[in-house]
Amino acid sequence: MTLLTCAVCGTTLDSDADEQSAMLALAWVASHERGRDLRFCPQCARDNLRAIEAKLDTDYFSNH
Ligand SMILES: [Zn+2]
Repeated sequence: MTLLTCAVCGTTLDSDADEQSAMLALAWVASHERGRDLRFCPQCARDNLRAIEAKLDTDYFSNH
């Protein structure tokens, strides 16, 4: 099984459980931060998308 765990709210999803779970897993967002592989559920991804993008921008500007 492939268990996804939301880095924000801690909800879990087994994407291999059944077809519906596999579909739901597609809406999850993956983010790589400081070598860690983070996952965000659709709800938290929407809430945090701006923060995630802001962090990417910060990294971009600090590297140039
Ligand atoms: Zn979440």
